[in-house]
Amino acid sequence: MKFATYALLSVLAGSELSGTSRAFAPWTALASTKPLHSTLAPEAPSWVADEDNGGNSRANHQTRTSPSVSSRLKIEVQRDVPNVDDESFSSSGGALAMSIEELSEKLGGRGRAQIVWDCYSIGVDPANLFGRVIKLGWDDYETILNELPSQRRSQRLGPETLEKLKELYQQSFGEKVKKVEGGVATLSHISRAKDDTTKLLLKLSDGLEVETVIIPWKGKRSTLCISSQVGCRQGCTFCATGKMGKLRDLSTSEILAQMFYALKIQRLEELPEISNVVFMGMGEPSDNVENVVRATKILTTRELFQMSASKVTVSTVAPTPEAFKEFAKAPCVLAWSVHAVNDDLRKKLVPTTKYSMEELRQGLIDGLLSRPINARTCMLEVALMRGVNDQLEHAKELAEFTQVLIDRVPGVKPHINLIPYNDIGQHSLYEKPLAEDVVAFQKHLQSKGMYVHIRSTRGDDKIAACGQLATSKRPNMIS
Ligand code: SF4
Repeated sequence: MKFATYALLSVLAGSELSGTSRAFAPWTALASTKPLHSTLAPEAPSWVADEDNGGNSRANHQTRTSPSVSSRLKIEVQRDVPNVDDESFSSSGGALAMSIEELSEKLGGRGRAQIVWDCYSIGVDPANLFGRVIKLGWDDYETILNELPSQRRSQRLGPETLEKLKELYQQSFGEKVKKVEGGVATLSHISRAKDDTTKLLLKLSDGLEVETVIIPWKGKRSTLCISSQVGCRQGCTFCATGKMGKLRDLSTSEILAQMFYALKIQRLEELPEISNVVFMGMGEPSDNVENVVRATKILTTRELFQMSASKVTVSTVAPTPEAFKEFAKAPCVLAWSVHAVNDDLRKKLVPTTKYSMEELRQGLIDGLLSRPINARTCMLEVALMRGVNDQLEHAKELAEFTQVLIDRVPGVKPHINLIPYNDIGQHSLYEKPLAEDVVAFQKHLQSKGMYVHIRSTRGDDKIAACGQLATSKRPNMIS
């Protein structure tokens, strides 16, 4: 799952950011603007800071100001994650969902496949760059070439290869979808808060919309929050996306199109490079497990999006204990949206819960035990709501619950993230917690030796929360 309604938002007294958003209705409206750099330097989501050892998962990803392009091919050693064989996933949904081997076979050569991925990994559609009629939007042809690895800068994809590339998308999405940009997805709206949190709304080929959010951190790096479904069937009572119901799953390509566009915007707007990806946007990842797992593999494959698996986090509300086992096999950090450990209260917050918290915890334990001892970092996430689950008694229950996990999983390092709920407005049943209650909650857990952070407010305007932009554009879908 994710944090549809609150993930990026809200706030502790004193850290609350104020300001207005800047919304750019058609994406093209932003083209003529200068990058909007904020003087605010908000804190990173705590787990970003915790995970961050000073390096960058996409150490090779270049911004316009980066001097070295060839360094883009260097990959950070993935110490804390399961090894993933590049060939262990199969294709679905066009070139963006294919391994380099699969694409090489389809295009008739590894060099061609690598050129395609050179482009995707900086948010450029090769169909645009090498097409007969070049349409690059605000992208500048020479700048793009300079972003590509030097050894392939002079190489081009010919008409025959472009035709094959087009057919790969048509086979998956129908005649009209011929490429990623303007095909699999079209950027239809972009908004930016004062802290530079940038929300993208993508229109899919069937007209549905999905959102993704770039969250810069102290001007150094950014986290990308992506969606796995349009809507969500889990119906968490505090979540805007849950009120939409599930409209459909996203294909692997549609999930990765969010990364593609985020890389484009990050590059063009000179936002800090994207070092982390979190599946905390719209949708419950375990309800679309095959496509999410494949997307994590493509995100973390050397020739593709090149991220470290320790920088890709999949957050699930855990509809079943098996959800953890599936994601334990994927190259990602596991995160569990716990919210409450008392079964009755949990059921009120996550009404689709069918298993006891003990059973779900056992699923997490089994999933973590299936990993190497040095790959057992996990997150426990709790959205705190005033007078509902933010009191000392709840902190005590959570501490006891977490201690069992620690006792049973050698090497586990649970990071508890407290997320003060943000009132999403007219549809909200809940209120944001008092700052003193949040701090007391944190202190109790810390007194038990647990690693706890309060997630800071990001995106300081009314549409900054995950789930809120899409839902605000179709109010008739909200009950
Ligand atoms: S309803 Fe779905 S998207 Fe919203 S919090 Fe629950 S699992 Fe996440």
